[in-house]
Amino acid sequence: MSYKILVATRSFGSTSSKPWDVLNDAGCEIVKADMSQKMTEERLIELLEGVDGAIIGVVPMTAHVIEQSPTLKVVSMHGVGVDHIDLTAAAQKGVVIANCQGANDQSVADLTIGLMIAIARDIPSVDRKVRAGGWGAHAGSELWNKTLGLIGLGRIGRGVAKRALGFDMKVLAYDPYVDEDSVEGGITMVSFEEVLQKSDYVSLHAALSEETRHMIGAPQFQAMKPTAYFINTSRGALVDEVALHTALSEKQIAGAALDVYEVEPPKDSPLLELENIVVMTHIGAHTRESIERVGVMAAENVLQTLEGGQPHFRVA
Ligand code: NAD
Repeated sequence: MSYKILVATRSFGSTSSKPWDVLNDAGCEIVKADMSQKMTEERLIELLEGVDGAIIGVVPMTAHVIEQSPTLKVVSMHGVGVDHIDLTAAAQKGVVIANCQGANDQSVADLTIGLMIAIARDIPSVDRKVRAGGWGAHAGSELWNKTLGLIGLGRIGRGVAKRALGFDMKVLAYDPYVDEDSVEGGITMVSFEEVLQKSDYVSLHAALSEETRHMIGAPQFQAMKPTAYFINTSRGALVDEVALHTALSEKQIAGAALDVYEVEPPKDSPLLELENIVVMTHIGAHTRESIERVGVMAAENVLQTLEGGQPHFRVA
């Protein structure tokens, strides 16, 4: 049986042919969306015509799109976060939603440590200074013996903890849904307030939900040390960016490093005018290895479901 599969993500199979091989070897008819054009709901509905399964990035998989796509049986997120997919509508229409848990967390954990060092040692601004003919930098801050506070202790949070312990950091974590018995040695579970008050580096790794939206706002920044660095490689909407701007410009905290934003790309954001910030382009999972692993898993998620089995990770 030949399946029609929509690929609506830029990165699928962009670093190796293996993800494409999985679909081609199964004899799939592949529809590749032109991702240089804006993906509206109406365009997505057109692309989904006659499609059995879709591999998607952050595109508007809303209730309207799901309801208007009667042949669609399975959607695999090319990644982990599914906050842009209407899970209730999918469940009502019997569309299986899968994701690629565990395939990209090591890459995001690497970038988180990279951003901690980048903001603490001012790497991007020193780079710019040297290129402009300058020299010198103000004294940075070490990771060694400092306290790292993790908010969210899932796969990525644990990956960051493991790396931080290798830097001899003290690791505190807050996650109301984690069973303390499952927590690896070296990580101390504490309250939300304690993470904020005691940490030299506060790194956010919670999933985005209505409960966690804007969980870091003015009171949370005020609770942090004035020498603290804030790192966000999770989701922009977890943070109130107006409050973050105030915290950075009024030096309530020392600096921030961000991979994600409330609106992406953040081209009109006043955050970009600040000096004490390092910014990336939501590339936490963007490594050759991770893109290959995620792509293969996303393709297998779709095929396994269409063949009557279960995807690797079913979300709805
Ligand atoms: P995960 O599901 O393994 O972990 C998320 C954790 O958040 C869970 O342990 C959960 O208990 C915890 N959590 C839920 N509500 C919370 C709350 N109120 N307070 C504290 N913790 C709470 O997910 P993960 O794979 O570790 O991903 C972590 C984050 O990183 C997610 O937001 C995900 O969307 C994001 N992410 C970003 C990139 C990137 O490119 N930057 C790539 C992959 C994932």
